[in-house]
Amino acid sequence: MGWEFDKEELCFNCRSQAIQRIKVLSRELLTQCTNCGAEAHYALHGAYQEKKMPELIGSDVGEALGAWCFCHEALCPNCSSETTNEVLIDTVMAMIACEKCLLTRLYRFDAFDKSWRR
Ligand SMILES: [Zn+2]
Ligand SMILES: [Zn+2]
Repeated sequence: MGWEFDKEELCFNCRSQAIQRIKVLSRELLTQCTNCGAEAHYALHGAYQEKKMPELIGSDVGEALGAWCFCHEALCPNCSSETTNEVLIDTVMAMIACEKCLLTRLYRFDAFDKSWRR
């Protein structure tokens, strides 16, 4: 699977409301700010099936910078249906949950590329 889409969010690096290019791959999630070029990498930490829709809450560390929380319509790799996925991304982790089959994928922040905080 692979998703690639644009979403306007407050950048964790330049702090401006700018289009963020988000890529979701099977083992990795990437975000890139089209304003400052900062690129954040998140590595897949685990995927599990919830019994009820999980509450997507950002980590405490990321709270100062805020978290991105939105819904994205895309093909779920688990139930293979075009459905609403809830997405949460902050500076520590990222989480994607399918509203239909409740598959929840958890990503851990891995690294920023060199343009981070230049
Ligand atoms: Zn930025
Ligand atoms: Zn699903």
